Amino acid sequence: MNNFEKKLDNYAMLAVRTGVNIQQGQTLVVNAPLEAAPLVRKIAQKAYEAGAKHVYVEWNDEELTYIKYKHAPEEAFSEYPMWRAQGMEQMAQEGAAFLSIYAPNPDLLKDVDPKRIATFMKTSSEALRNYRSALMADRNCWSLISTPTPAWAKKVFPDLPEQEAIDKLWDVIFDVTRVSTEDPVQAWNEHNEKLAHIVDYLNNKQYKQLIYEAPGTNLTIDLVENHVWHGGAAVSEDGVRFNPNIPTEEVFTMPHKDGVNGTVRNTKPLNYGGNLIDGFTLTFKDGKVVDFTAEQGYDTLKHLLETDEGARRLGEVALVPHRSPISESNLIFYNTLFDENAACHLALGKAYPTNIQDGAALAKEELDARGVNDSLVHEDFMIGSAELNIDGVTNDGKREPIFRNGNWAIEW
Ligand code: ZN
Ligand code: ZN
Repeated sequence: MNNFEKKLDNYAMLAVRTGVNIQQGQTLVVNAPLEAAPLVRKIAQKAYEAGAKHVYVEWNDEELTYIKYKHAPEEAFSEYPMWRAQGMEQMAQEGAAFLSIYAPNPDLLKDVDPKRIATFMKTSSEALRNYRSALMADRNCWSLISTPTPAWAKKVFPDLPEQEAIDKLWDVIFDVTRVSTEDPVQAWNEHNEKLAHIVDYLNNKQYKQLIYEAPGTNLTIDLVENHVWHGGAAVSEDGVRFNPNIPTEEVFTMPHKDGVNGTVRNTKPLNYGGNLIDGFTLTFKDGKVVDFTAEQGYDTLKHLLETDEGARRLGEVALVPHRSPISESNLIFYNTLFDENAACHLALGKAYPTNIQDGAALAKEELDARGVNDSLVHEDFMIGSAELNIDGVTNDGKREPIFRNGNWAIEW
């Protein structure tokens, strides 16, 4: 096996063991682009070796997606194949693990009518609502990894020939996912432990509010009472440890859906549904976006915010130091899995019920009463930079530094 094959092998193993942590007799469902076939075959082999009963692969092809958007009739975008939605839901109920290989072409749909895209994104979110809710509540083990595709690699490294761009992107992915280390699974255990320390510190603090200051940003975010910070490994309903994101550098918790005020400016482009949104600001009042601007992708942002009531409110607040391995690569990935782990971010839309004590057991009305946001969407956007300062406000009103110049100002 050459060096690349060895690393690809380790990456597949990491996805199966540390990512979804496949269990004896379990079914693994993989969502993957066609370009990922060599990786998917390795993943399937590792999964069977780890005891998987079935490995099902849902292939997707962006060229086909594009052809459909260009040529299908309007009404096609308000229909979703329910057999597929029900199939995913059924496999979730039966305890399958879900691995997604996420590598969209950031420019795929730039000449497609944003309204078509918005319609279909809403249609699919509605159809997949139960399936996605199960994953967001950690009922099943799930994980998100990535793979270079020609279109994506060329977007990250526009000056390199295609094959060089792909090779280079692989190198970066192997680095930031710790696959280049001697023992990636062990490296992840150590990384998870480090994140757990930060999580413990913040959970003990129980800040009632976070105050953000940076160029273009002046924002206060109330955290829900009894919020829970998470980071690194998660634990499924059946008590299995898994890693939802590979890579991951964030710790995150729940903002109060009615408690966000001020303006925030993004610091990295957001790839939403095949289009880029950049140079944008959101102004909040009592939790709701009341005004917004965007230098690029204004219509796409507008459609996102108009998805439903919850799409105009926050569902996640995440802290990532500017001095993180992904950030230090100094690249813009145009892929949220990487960009969100290189910068502090917020998410519009649905909150993770695990970010509030006993959240997974609460009924919809109770969640609402406690300030938990609900929406068809959950969309991270990046606001971190070397100029970001964040303070925490304690329950007795004391203001303490959490971030200074983009990095942790606390010790744990
Ligand atoms: Zn996040
Ligand atoms: Zn998120």
